[in-house]
Amino acid sequence: MAYKGRWVRMAQIESLAARRNPLDAILARALAGERLDESDAIALIECADGDLPRVMAAAAEMRDRAKGRDVTFSPKVFLPITNLCRDRCGYCTFRKDPGDPGAWTMTLAEVAEWSRRGREQGCIEALMCLGDKPELAFREYRDTLKSLGARGTAEYVARACATALDAGLLPHTNAGLLTRGELAMLRPLNVSMGLMLESVSPRLRARGGVHQWAPDKDPAARLKMIDEAGELRIPFTTGILIGIGDTTAERALSLLAIRASHERHGHIQEVIIQNFRAKPGLPLEDAPEPGALEMARASATARLTLGGAMNVQAPPNLSPHEIELFLAAGINDWGGISPLSRDYVNPEAPWPHLERLGERCARAGFRLKRRLAIYPEFINDKWVDPALGPALGRFSDLIAAEVQA
Ligand code: SF4
Repeated sequence: MAYKGRWVRMAQIESLAARRNPLDAILARALAGERLDESDAIALIECADGDLPRVMAAAAEMRDRAKGRDVTFSPKVFLPITNLCRDRCGYCTFRKDPGDPGAWTMTLAEVAEWSRRGREQGCIEALMCLGDKPELAFREYRDTLKSLGARGTAEYVARACATALDAGLLPHTNAGLLTRGELAMLRPLNVSMGLMLESVSPRLRARGGVHQWAPDKDPAARLKMIDEAGELRIPFTTGILIGIGDTTAERALSLLAIRASHERHGHIQEVIIQNFRAKPGLPLEDAPEPGALEMARASATARLTLGGAMNVQAPPNLSPHEIELFLAAGINDWGGISPLSRDYVNPEAPWPHLERLGERCARAGFRLKRRLAIYPEFINDKWVDPALGPALGRFSDLIAAEVQA
C-alpha cells in the first residue's frame, strides 16, 4: 500500500508539473515509456535554453535506466574504397573527380595491408566508406573497375569485405545508395551496414540547397533503402546531419522517420547525431557550424523519441570539447575511432586519444568500452548471416563480456 501511495503521489506531482509547463508533461510521458509524436519531438528540439537542462536530464535518465553508465566505441580502420562520387554535396571535401589530386580507388592489396595493420593495432571493424555510384559518372572509373575485374562498385566492395574478413576484421559498409540486390549481396560479408538519412527535408535538393547536385541524397530514396535493409534483416546504422540548411523541426521529423522504419523492421542498431563542419573551399565554407547546444538538443531529442534501448551516437572528433555535454544529453556511443586511419570525411578532425577519452568519460561517471560493429542485441540467427559465424567467433570473449554487461 505504501508503494501504491507513493506512486499516486508521484502521479499527482507529475500532473501538477505538467499543468505548469507542457514540456514537463512530454518528459514525464517519455520517461513513462509513451511514444512521443511530432509535436512532442519538435517541442523538445526547440526547447528554450532555460528548459534544456531538464530535457537533457530526462534523456540521461532514460539512457541510464536502459544502458547504465557504459559508453562504447568501435575500434576501426577506415577504408575509403573509392573517393570518386557522382554527387556533389555542398559540404563534402571527401569526393573527387578522376584526375583530381588525391583521387583514389584502393586496390585489394591496399585493403589487405591496411586491414592487417588495423588488426595488429587492435581494430575490430573495417569501415568501407566510399562515394556514390562513380561508375555512372566517370568512364575512367569504369575502366578502373574493369582492370580490377569487377562489374560494379558493389561487387568490388564485396571483394574488399572478403579481404578484410580474411584479415580478421568485421566489415561494416556504407557505400551510399544501394539496390536491394546489392544489399543482399553484401549481407553475408557485413556484420552491419549503414546509410545516413541526413535529413528528410526535400528543400535541400532544391536550387541552391546542399543536395541540389546530389541525386542520391533524395530523402525518399534513402528511406526506401533503409526499409529494404530492414526487410533483408541487416543490422543498420543511420542518422541525421545537422547544420546543412535543415530546420530544427526537420531534424525532429528526420528522427521520427528513422523511428518509423525501425518500428517496421526492428533493424536500426544505432542513430548518429552528426554536426556539419565548415571547411575551406566548400560552398558552405562560411556557413555557421551548429552550436554545442544545438547538438545537445538533437541528441536529447533522439534519446527521448527513439527510447532507452536505441544506441545514440555522436562523433567525438567533430566536437572534442563537448564530450561531457553529449554524455549529459543521453548518448551512449562514440562510434568508430581509429588508431590507424584518419577520418577521411573530416580530415581536419583527429580522433580523440583513447586514454584521454576514457579519462574524461570516467570523470563524468561513465566507463568507456570497446564494442563490435554489430551491437550485442543483434548477434543472433535472425540478424547475422551464417557465413559470418567464424569471423564473429574470433571475438567471442568480447561478445560474452557484452552479453553479461
Ligand atoms: S557526402 Fe557522400 S554522396 Fe555527397 S559528395 Fe560526398 S561522398 Fe558524395
